Amino acid sequence: MTLDRRTLLKAAGAAGALNTVWPLSAGLSPAQAREAAEALGADYDPAPFTLGVASGDPQPGSVVLWTRLAPEPLAAEQRLPEVVAVAWVVAEDQALSRVVARGSAPASATLGHSVHVPVQGLAAGRTYWYAFSALGKTSRVGRTRTAPSGTVSRVRFAAANCQAFHDGYYAAHRGIAREDVDFVVHLGDYIYEHGPVGGDHVRDHEGPAVLTLADYRRRHALYKGDASLREAHAAHPWFLTWDDHEVANDYSGTGGGAPFLQRRAAAYQAWYENMPHRDGGESALPDPVLHRTRRWGNLLELTVLDLRSYRSAQNLADGTILGAEQKGWLKGTIDRAPDSWHVWANSIMLSQLRGRPGGSYMFTDQWDGFLAERKEILGHVHSSGLEDLVVVTGDWHSAFVDDLRVDFDDTSSPLVGTEFTAHSVTSGGYAADWNTANGPLMGRGNPHLKYFEGNRYGYDVYELTPERFTTRMRVIADRRDPLSPVTTLTSFHVDRGRTGSYEDPATKGSPAQWRRD
Ligand code: FE
Ligand code: CA
Repeated sequence: MTLDRRTLLKAAGAAGALNTVWPLSAGLSPAQAREAAEALGADYDPAPFTLGVASGDPQPGSVVLWTRLAPEPLAAEQRLPEVVAVAWVVAEDQALSRVVARGSAPASATLGHSVHVPVQGLAAGRTYWYAFSALGKTSRVGRTRTAPSGTVSRVRFAAANCQAFHDGYYAAHRGIAREDVDFVVHLGDYIYEHGPVGGDHVRDHEGPAVLTLADYRRRHALYKGDASLREAHAAHPWFLTWDDHEVANDYSGTGGGAPFLQRRAAAYQAWYENMPHRDGGESALPDPVLHRTRRWGNLLELTVLDLRSYRSAQNLADGTILGAEQKGWLKGTIDRAPDSWHVWANSIMLSQLRGRPGGSYMFTDQWDGFLAERKEILGHVHSSGLEDLVVVTGDWHSAFVDDLRVDFDDTSSPLVGTEFTAHSVTSGGYAADWNTANGPLMGRGNPHLKYFEGNRYGYDVYELTPERFTTRMRVIADRRDPLSPVTTLTSFHVDRGRTGSYEDPATKGSPAQWRRD
């Protein structure tokens, strides 16, 4: 395997450097934890805006602005008044001279001194800059963009997923920050509730599991210590969903009873406190609502799914990954869909995946554990006549391109869309020899699988025009390098009105462990 932040920890330990300790180890003071984080390359914006600024859920005329006051980012509790007034400003220029909206929002200890400002009354389809001030200090300036309305000729967006802090630097987010995109979608595993495990040189034993609100707050604060993540948030508005590691590995819904529900509530609250998430009105802590549809004019309908909060256990005859309410809502969304591209932000793989021809499913934590519901949803896509469906997915830590079929075991079954599963930002995939051996096995075992590449890290950029959907797999050279350059590994296209993808001839010779001719 390649090196990572953890290997850095080890190397520093072997060299006798100080503070080579996992920053969230038990027993560290906030200052010691911060020193340990900085020894791993973390830094923070000036206090109290250490965690930076962000914006999210762009709509025509509206966007949510976020920041969180955390003078000592890795402290369990901030030494701040119970309520701090945070002033915000939105302007048409980066120097914040042409102000179009301003106001003040209370940052309360109850919500970790976070603020979420739903700014209204902005113009559709334009770029704005914003900043916060509090306690005599001013934050960095962020840039955001509202959704357009009406006729739209192009939209570009990036999707990121799976960013284990201990597995490497966020050069991928540095790349996203520099992309010319309208927005970013995060597909989950924004944090990992576990850190590095074991080790000779490193005192990285974390003590008890991450359970409390303070634990999850510190975890989010550590992750935002990567400057590239803060940069990507400050550069573009984000849409967000989550997967399992925001709470606990492979969890299902409320499974685990009261102690788990308490833990999940802590995790969800810390997530909300640290994300530019728009609280939907009826949505409220401890159960924020994530699923929603958003339009980018007449060109794109984006559907954000929550595949964790409402799922049953896997492998049940009547199991559900969406939950009854979200399933009904998704079917209604399909029924009412406008004539445009339809993109589903889907945290975990929708396509069937067998390990080899005739083999069993590789992972039933993904949609493969919910067979009846998958067939019901994809059958509904087909029967309703929905066209131009592209599903963008995270979780796997490797890139896949799949055809979506109502019945994956029947190659004559209707083709209803394309799924692009993106590389991870940092989280470790399988070893190169595993990928080499298993790429062709998975390819032969899954007639709908067109492409597999598991040796790289990065993100996807999608470009939509009325005629074509293009996915560019953007990969970094080395996750050990925070400044690692970004290149395009390959591109796939989907033509409007024609189901199925094809690889760009210019990059068909790029490295991959499986590609169907
Ligand atoms: Fe992951
Ligand atoms: Ca996951």
